[in-house]
Amino acid sequence: MKTIIEPFKIKMVEPIKLTTRGERVQMIEAAKFNPFRLRAEDVIIDLLTDSGTSAMSSEAWAAMMRGDESYAGARSWYRFRDTVKDIFGFEQVIPTHQGRAAEHILFGVMVKADSVIPNNTHFDTTRANIEFCGGEAVDLPCAEADDLDSSYPFKGNMDIEALEKLVAEMGPEHIPLIMVTVTNNSGGGQPVSMANIREISRIARGAGIPFYLDACRFAENAHFIKRREPGFETTPTIDIAREMFSYADGCTMSAKKDAFANIGGFLCTNDAELAHRERNILILTEGFPTYGGLAGRDLDAIAVGLCEILDEHYLDFRLRSTRYVVRHLLEAGIPVLAPAGGHAVYIDAHRFLPHIEPLQYPGQALAVELYIEAGVRSVEIGSVMFGLDPHTGEEHPARLELLRLAIPRRVYTQSHMDYVIEAINLVWERREKVRGMRIVEAPQFLRHFTAEFERV
Ligand SMILES: *Cc1c(COP(=O)(O)O)cnc(C)c1O
Repeated sequence: MKTIIEPFKIKMVEPIKLTTRGERVQMIEAAKFNPFRLRAEDVIIDLLTDSGTSAMSSEAWAAMMRGDESYAGARSWYRFRDTVKDIFGFEQVIPTHQGRAAEHILFGVMVKADSVIPNNTHFDTTRANIEFCGGEAVDLPCAEADDLDSSYPFKGNMDIEALEKLVAEMGPEHIPLIMVTVTNNSGGGQPVSMANIREISRIARGAGIPFYLDACRFAENAHFIKRREPGFETTPTIDIAREMFSYADGCTMSAKKDAFANIGGFLCTNDAELAHRERNILILTEGFPTYGGLAGRDLDAIAVGLCEILDEHYLDFRLRSTRYVVRHLLEAGIPVLAPAGGHAVYIDAHRFLPHIEPLQYPGQALAVELYIEAGVRSVEIGSVMFGLDPHTGEEHPARLELLRLAIPRRVYTQSHMDYVIEAINLVWERREKVRGMRIVEAPQFLRHFTAEFERV
């Protein structure tokens, strides 16, 4: 069958308030042309993020009712720990309230002022937590990553030669860990191949440097390996995930991504002495080591979600659904990042609106038009997000001007995706009339969340 269907059915619904174009014009103006400032109820299709926005299953909700809220040693903790150990394979499991809390604890213990931490591409909270500890976060994406036209299947890969060079130059004493983000979120949700993970592990082990995975979208990455990397066609996706983790010494995880949970995260390692020091910080900032900032029912929901996310029918649906949107946009001649990643569709706003200068924020202008056209909320990933140097206060165009449409897990149907495709096409038809934006007011740090804009 060619028709893509959702491998689940709907048991509980949440109504969407349908708005008129006139209402949306008023609301985006009142929000100072910043979609982050809209009320969620005024959005028809919310593609702002896939983080914490997943739909839980009837099994996960049932598990929440079994949540054991004992302070120490709750049954929920053991169910959570055993599931994480079974899939991820690490000895030590430390629960946290989100992924960034795991990062904060890990880097707080491992990073010093002269540390350099390489990654394929650091996610923004990862980079910020390293810099907060005085370390330097270095991105080493492969050459194909920046080429929007390349159809290379593993654009999330790390540049192996660049890593070897960095390790030789800095020496292992300055590199407390090597990280790889699967899938590469900031690099377009692109997967990392098993071959690349093996190579990085070989270099890390050769130099005696711990190797960590930022595992937020581990299941999507494992399924891309199954579908794209020769030799894995018949391997169960769960075994591919286990093999990925077998090359690493630890991981950080946000359960708000590939665990279908609305909150949660964890940190893993095989190093008992390191885990001891991490738990000492955990008790200060998150909570007792058997709940780490989460309710017992959250631990149970995550344990169920981690198993469900590895369902191959779900993962096929997920990857095909994202690819379906990308294919339809490409067929209409719309500039979009290809091949399709896992969790999001990235439109090249620079090529979509070539008449708008980077510092008149084509991605922001496109986000505004998409909201006005159809009530679709998306996020600019370009010069609004990355253009301001917070230390000098100077503005420079970002490397890319992208508009990200992140797809929440199991929330929207294929017809919602058709609606999104139509909305983008309608803006495409009137693209020449779209005007740039200027910033009226913005803070120095993370300005995209609260900045106020007007049309040029
Ligand atoms: C979301 C995310 C994080 C941070 O997780 P939170 O749960 O949002 O704190 C870290 N790395 C990557 C790749 C992510 O996508």
